[in-house]
Amino acid sequence: MFIKQNLIQLKEQLPEHVSLVAVSKTKPVSDIQVAYDAGQRIFGENRIQEMVNKYEVLPKDIEWHMIGHLQRNKIKYMAHFVDLIHGVDGLKTLLEIDKQGKKHQRVIKCLLQVKIAKEETKFGMDVETIQTILNSSELEGLDNVQVTGLMGMASFTSDTEQISKEFASLKTVFDQLNKDGCNLSVLSMGMSGDYKIAIENGSNMIRVGSAIFGLRNYIA
Ligand SMILES: *Cc1c(COP(=O)(O)O)cnc(C)c1O
Repeated sequence: MFIKQNLIQLKEQLPEHVSLVAVSKTKPVSDIQVAYDAGQRIFGENRIQEMVNKYEVLPKDIEWHMIGHLQRNKIKYMAHFVDLIHGVDGLKTLLEIDKQGKKHQRVIKCLLQVKIAKEETKFGMDVETIQTILNSSELEGLDNVQVTGLMGMASFTSDTEQISKEFASLKTVFDQLNKDGCNLSVLSMGMSGDYKIAIENGSNMIRVGSAIFGLRNYIA
């Protein structure tokens, strides 16, 4: 019951232009079904095998997003259904996604992950690398991937000023790239603890797990 309540309350707060990815990692299929029955259609997972297992048993109009760090050799297992891959960390990964997308005659949408947090443990590329990729002739040659935007994670801190600064820096990068002619529409930033700050700073896609499904048993 609480899943439905959480979801409805959260959606009521969201501006129209912000889409919600319900992050269901570690949660059972029955929880996802509850959210689905309450109208949610976009779900995010961070492990490919777990997402495949859930995809196979759940309604086929769900849009599955891969939000975790990617193991390149596993991309093939989700290439026939994944809708958006958030955590792309380099050209090599894009090449593999393209190769797998081609096998299924699909165009797989991708977001490039930008490192905005101070913590060393967070994944992501620096702005120069992102620019290089977006301007590369290799990317132009990839018919089965489409880079539609950027994704970032703020530092894990209670310092809201810091979080706000990091999200604002990503929005600046996003705007600058678009000014330079990149056609980016998705800015994925914000999780349960910081999605309000993210939206204030220009996010149009939030990835929310525990605020919908409750706390996870382990940090994934
Ligand atoms: C787990 C996860 C989320 C959701 O985290 P919550 O704090 O539970 O909302 C969002 N983004 C990524 C990349 C994640 O791994």
